[in-house]
Amino acid sequence: MPTLYLATRNAHKAQEIQAILGAEWRVAPSSELDPQLDWDENGTTFRANALIKAKALRTLTPSPVLADDSGLEVDVLEGAPGVYSARYAGPDATDRDNLYKLLRVLQGVPEDQRRASFVCVLCYLDAEGIAHYFEGRCEGRIIDTPRGSEGFGYDPIFVPDGLEKTFAELTAEEKNSISHRNRAMLAFQEFLITRNQ
Ligand code: IMP
Repeated sequence: MPTLYLATRNAHKAQEIQAILGAEWRVAPSSELDPQLDWDENGTTFRANALIKAKALRTLTPSPVLADDSGLEVDVLEGAPGVYSARYAGPDATDRDNLYKLLRVLQGVPEDQRRASFVCVLCYLDAEGIAHYFEGRCEGRIIDTPRGSEGFGYDPIFVPDGLEKTFAELTAEEKNSISHRNRAMLAFQEFLITRNQ
């Protein structure tokens, strides 16, 4: 079974990507190659940040590598927190700090103006070092009181279109079936299948 190294410090993401890709690949976090691996996530787009992570990981292995950059874009905030989602409340912010900052910023904003999308961009550096990008989005709205205990990040305040539950009230399988990460992964899987034909 081939190994696909994933540039992430987030164990949840590695688990989600493994679950989505299934048993054909072993998804291994970059910490397996170097627990100290670090990168400067200073891009201003999801693509730029995904490429920075993939290139950092590529210095450790000749194998294909995958990196993702993701975040939450809130329409009324013109796409913020966007690429800054993980550090919205400051450089050492926790998921909880970021979530409550967003709720404070959106205080008083009526329900019909709380549209938001989770975005995920994957960068796959193939064995030749060529970068391929795949994007997935999941649209929904931000509620004003957190609900649920599954998932991570902004999950407790994001209700995807077509459902009444937050991402944090869904099971991992339910979230994975509609998430931005899953949609980007499906595009990536499609690419792998076509490429191997
Ligand atoms: P990254 O690790 O730089 O891609 O930062 C992603 C940040 O976006 C996370 O720390 C979360 O704050 C947020 N985020 C991305 N995907 C999700 C998700 O599926 N659920 C909740 N928050 C997410």
